[in-house]
Amino acid sequence: MSRRIRDDTHKISVLRDSKSVTKHETWFSDQPPDLGPGFSAADADRRRTTVIAILRRAAKRAKRVNSEQTEALSHLVNKLQACRPRHRCGSLACPPCARSWQKAKTAAHEAIISATKKGPSKRLVFVTVIPKKKMYQPGRFSQIDIKKANRWLKDVLKPIGNRTIVGSADLGWETRRGKGYIQVHWHLVMWTKSRKALKKKLGVIFKRAKKHERPVKVQVVSTTAS
Ligand SMILES: [Zn+2]
Repeated sequence: MSRRIRDDTHKISVLRDSKSVTKHETWFSDQPPDLGPGFSAADADRRRTTVIAILRRAAKRAKRVNSEQTEALSHLVNKLQACRPRHRCGSLACPPCARSWQKAKTAAHEAIISATKKGPSKRLVFVTVIPKKKMYQPGRFSQIDIKKANRWLKDVLKPIGNRTIVGSADLGWETRRGKGYIQVHWHLVMWTKSRKALKKKLGVIFKRAKKHERPVKVQVVSTTAS
């Protein structure tokens, strides 16, 4: 097995076990993949200090009214403060740990994309799908089950054929007519012969409720990782 394939297999397998990501300090470093400006290791550390200060203030405020909440917030402060090399906390509220996961995911996606690279007739596209079925009103946030939602997506995407799709679910805070809600949506990457035909097929699956809505976006990726 070549070194390249071995490295790529490791990058991909790391995604199957979220705990293994925080065990590898390389994901906390400034080694590639680069997540762009504002996402260096130093930036994540600075953000952690800010998050801890915000959580402390929130814990103080909650003290008078809700002791349970104060306890939960203090617990999180301690967790984030104790996070250090080789003893990572693994909390998604922790900017260095969240960044490590993002880096591992990016590396795995790049490896999958180059491993599944097709001939010149196929192009790589970014696909965003925003299903209106996946809107959650405040008070229902705890019902969001991402694993279940991913299974649902896999099922509804069957009509676009058997193909490699990489990507992940994302939660967005949206407002409509002054009311807030959480929208579960997906950012995906896949190969296609025809961007237009793919968009049409996706448009049948994710129908728009109103004229201005854009539940499907398909953009050609101009530069890809080698
Ligand atoms: Zn951490």
